[in-house]
Amino acid sequence: MVIRWKEAALVGVTALLLGTVGVAVVPFHSHQALAASGDGDGDDEGYYWSSTTIPYVNQAAYVNDANAWSAGASAWNNSASKWYLQSVSQGGNIDLLDTNNSSVTWDGITIYNTSGSNFTSVTCYLNHYYTSGYTSAETKSVASHELGHALGLAHEKGAIVMNAYTCGSGSRWCTYGINSPTSDDVSDVNGVPNGG
Ligand SMILES: [Zn+2]
Repeated sequence: MVIRWKEAALVGVTALLLGTVGVAVVPFHSHQALAASGDGDGDDEGYYWSSTTIPYVNQAAYVNDANAWSAGASAWNNSASKWYLQSVSQGGNIDLLDTNNSSVTWDGITIYNTSGSNFTSVTCYLNHYYTSGYTSAETKSVASHELGHALGLAHEKGAIVMNAYTCGSGSRWCTYGINSPTSDDVSDVNGVPNGG
């Protein structure tokens, strides 16, 4: 099964172009079709890694994106998360990439490949078309968010890194200034099963 999480970068871009804060744009989420299971509290997707150490390869082409992936991985590793994102040069289970695509509305996307309840591989992209206009702190916010998906987390509203919106009303970065996992994110991610 392949599952895609897309982040609603257009919220912020639209707000910027219109000179209006908080323009409502329908987010591009795909999780409605998925039955959240995991630990049963609805904040994760029910897919998980079998080991708490997860090797990843950072192959982003643009240096600001590569730096954001590193910063996001460090943010998770420096939290109380039970998972460890291990940087490797090849053969990772998570591929951290980027693209430069003006025809899509997302600033980040995560693609799951699963077998049963297990992740087999996860690929995350930053979209340089948007991140080239972000500060390093804002790009880190998107990276930390995507890595939350890569660890099995779903979207939640509020002051939490798994907030889907980078900008706009009630958004992860522009409203709450969050670019690292919060204690709520850590609690959620530690509720994702492992050992399966
Ligand atoms: Zn998301």
